[in-house]
Amino acid sequence: MELVSQIPEMKARVLTVMATRGQDQELVANVAESHGLKEGSDLENLPKDESLVGEIGLDKYFRLPGVWTPELETARDGSLTRGGREGRPLSKYKVQMSHQKAVLKAQLKLAGEMQRAVSVHGVQAHGVLFGTLQECWKGHEKEVISKKERKKIANIAPPADEDSESTPKDIQSKPFPPRICLHSYSGPDEALKQYYHPAVPAEIYFSFSEAINMGTDTRTKAMEVIKAVPDDKVLMESDLHMAGDIMDEKLEAIARRICQIKGWELEKGVKQLGDNWKKFAFGR
Ligand SMILES: [Zn+2]
Repeated sequence: MELVSQIPEMKARVLTVMATRGQDQELVANVAESHGLKEGSDLENLPKDESLVGEIGLDKYFRLPGVWTPELETARDGSLTRGGREGRPLSKYKVQMSHQKAVLKAQLKLAGEMQRAVSVHGVQAHGVLFGTLQECWKGHEKEVISKKERKKIANIAPPADEDSESTPKDIQSKPFPPRICLHSYSGPDEALKQYYHPAVPAEIYFSFSEAINMGTDTRTKAMEVIKAVPDDKVLMESDLHMAGDIMDEKLEAIARRICQIKGWELEKGVKQLGDNWKKFAFGR
């Protein structure tokens, strides 16, 4: 949450800012208040004050940081937002996966109730993460119809268009979020088959960052995944805690990389990524 004041000077025209802990939430709300989409901008047709649920997720190896010893307390940097590790050594205490799952399910349920998109991460927990998502949409899977049946349906004349005025505008709560982004996705490309199974009732996006996905040991895997993700479901992100020039550089780098991997001409690719973001964030 550093360098917020630089946001208006950035080359990136719109950002999605997320909290990764309770202490961030007020800060994120303040950023939305001071730098939210303004009247008169060419983005003003987008809904205001719209928010996502996230970042949420599972981390198999998460361990609680150790206690604040008097020495560590004295050396503490008062300018940092509370709630972080701040260089403390990790304790031996893990947070059980069953507990992490319970918290994640509650957050997914909230997003479903509010019909908000979620940004989810999974650290060494790709199978459990998919299982948890699957549990939350259980009973709401889409009906999978055979090719033969689909052909039959295609031959039936469509009903007349409904009067759009009569379409109910109320949010239709469901126990799962309508749109899910697997952020800085580090799992294998084979897992995409599960996420894009025709029965999955949520729209699944995958986002990639220079910081997490393009390291020397992660790049090859990420490139395979980027190739495999449908063109309209790829997102880009910085996964950084600070705005300004560094974030712009990282966003440009990942945008160029995604375009190269996808074989997109740059301008077309950037537009595609922008359209994907709008669809993910607002559902249209
Ligand atoms: Zn994350």
